[in-house]
Amino acid sequence: MFSFIKDYYQHLLAPNEAINDSKEYRRLILVRFILGVTASLLLFFSFIHTFVLVEPSKVVALIDFLGALATAFALINLKTVQKIDQAAFIGTTSLLLFFISFVYLNQNDSFGLIWTIFFPIIALTINTTHRGLIFSLLFLIATSVISFQGIGEWQNGIWDLKSFLRLNVALSMIILIMYIHEVAMDKAQKYEQDSLSVLEELSLNDALTGIANRRRINNLLDNEYERAQRYQTPFSIVLFDIDHFKKINDTYGHLVGDNTLKKLSKLVNETIRKTEIVGRWGGEEFILILPETNINSGFLVAEKIRKIISKTKFKDLRDSLTCSFGVSEYQQGFSLDELIEQADQALYKAKENGRNMVTVYGHKEYNVE
Ligand code: GH3
Ligand code: MG
Ligand code: MG
Repeated sequence: MFSFIKDYYQHLLAPNEAINDSKEYRRLILVRFILGVTASLLLFFSFIHTFVLVEPSKVVALIDFLGALATAFALINLKTVQKIDQAAFIGTTSLLLFFISFVYLNQNDSFGLIWTIFFPIIALTINTTHRGLIFSLLFLIATSVISFQGIGEWQNGIWDLKSFLRLNVALSMIILIMYIHEVAMDKAQKYEQDSLSVLEELSLNDALTGIANRRRINNLLDNEYERAQRYQTPFSIVLFDIDHFKKINDTYGHLVGDNTLKKLSKLVNETIRKTEIVGRWGGEEFILILPETNINSGFLVAEKIRKIISKTKFKDLRDSLTCSFGVSEYQQGFSLDELIEQADQALYKAKENGRNMVTVYGHKEYNVE
């Protein structure tokens, strides 16, 4: 018996792969629970109206039975976010019809209308806020029309204008409170998501220069590598390193060194195309990812950037700033590490051959085997 309750509870809380945000997860659990209760409740009342009551209502029995079927169907079908919306809609519609017929038939016998407060609570928690509000207002309108007709009639005439106002004002208050609660949840979630995207931004960009950091570059390289493998498209990378950067630090100090890194990053970022990416590979070494670019075009991109850097006047520095570049192109059968290693070898050659130059891996005319 207890293990059955435990299993049910675990099933209620089980995560769903299609859902990855906290409010949807909360909604999924509530939808599972409320739809289960709704289906059982409707089936029970349909049974009572068919077999137990002395004056049964066939219409109510039918509404309840169809509602129970629809709700059970929606419950079984809960697979995607879209289906949660659908399930909540079907479940709430069934409950709406049930509650309206309940208000109509119960006529506040033994204070039975106290149950009506459950409807807005359920409607606003399992539906999206806007839809939940519409459901709740529909129910409020139906309840006030029916309970207004009951003035002087229900409870042997005890149901008066005051009773009518109490019921409907209380219902309105609950709708308002639940609505504000849901709006607050929506806003809080938006706030949470904004903070998360700020954190994500921080974790993917370099703190000093603002360009892509090593982590982001690694992700982008993985994607590009996979794409090149799958669609046989070319792609090249460029590693470049500032020449004699140690001397800049030694001559002008670390702050000027940092500033130079920032300015250089900005300059390169503004020079490349939107589809190309520059990242900080480490220290004073940078990387360019050039999608859909073969080695010849990769060379031209690197050469263009090399020229722009060497011609740019950096305010803090007396001499011009230069960089050395190594280019490599993805080849079938080579790993990503090998691709990077090849660019690194080309860069090393550029340094060896005098710096401020572009060297291409694997091309005899560029002197790198
Ligand atoms: P080469 O032309 O052979 O590349 O000479 P280099 O002096 O540029 O190379 P080396 O590797 O000897 O020195 C790199 C220097 O870059 C040493 C290190 O202190 C400096 N550096 C690395 N990261 C930063 C940084 O974030 N800020 C500053 N200011 N300096 C940095
Ligand atoms: Mg250097
Ligand atoms: Mg270096």
